[in-house]
Amino acid sequence: MIAADLRSGVEQLGDMIAEARTIVPFTGAGISTETGIPDFRSPGGLWTRNRPIPFDEFVASQDARDEAWRRRFAMEATFAAAKPGRGHRALASLYKAGKIPAIITQNIDNLHQASGFAASDVIELHGNTTYARCIGCEAAYDLSWVKTRFDADGQAPDCTTCGEPVKTATISFGQAMPEAEMQRAAELSQQCDLFIAIGSSLVVWPAAGFPLMAKNSGARLVIINNEPTEQDEHADLVIRHDIGETLGPFIGN
Ligand SMILES: [Zn+2]
Repeated sequence: MIAADLRSGVEQLGDMIAEARTIVPFTGAGISTETGIPDFRSPGGLWTRNRPIPFDEFVASQDARDEAWRRRFAMEATFAAAKPGRGHRALASLYKAGKIPAIITQNIDNLHQASGFAASDVIELHGNTTYARCIGCEAAYDLSWVKTRFDADGQAPDCTTCGEPVKTATISFGQAMPEAEMQRAAELSQQCDLFIAIGSSLVVWPAAGFPLMAKNSGARLVIINNEPTEQDEHADLVIRHDIGETLGPFIGN
């Protein structure tokens, strides 16, 4: 059912949170837009202007790797300046209160960790853009390490251990979904009694399957998103309002 207005939506959500023992949030780009990080998939977003570089192209071409890193460094001021928004802070409050065991996210911005979640309790389905990894041996690199080398010779650097390319620790188009994360997200979805999908249009599969998995396992399903989503018909409560406005009242509770 769709909340009639913001106030009744917040009230019903509050009741459901109070009654829940285990809450699993699932977040998408919408929770981060108030922090200044754009939704790459939105109309007019970065991906409609700049075709994303698929994984096989990144692996095959030095030019593609150079372009991928140029784009990433162009975004650095935005990512570096972003601070957790009201949605992040509200979820961190519920996490500290012991209501949320872990969070599933499609976001790559590290803002759930920045808001107080332990890194091990953030299930990142699409990886993390705030550091880099070798695609061969998976060694982690700081972005500053990549930037220094890129600036020195104008080329994206390779791993100093195995010689394979170094990429942001994100999951690119054409790259396999991370198995351990998918498994853990499925378990969390099946074990919670309240699943809250926040700021995701729920169209990207297989990630979009988790709300239904939770619902089919007996959980209540809440969807908070400015726009209608693909899964609204399955939800116990749909709140079509701003995420910061909707979750703000739960900060510190
Ligand atoms: Zn390596």
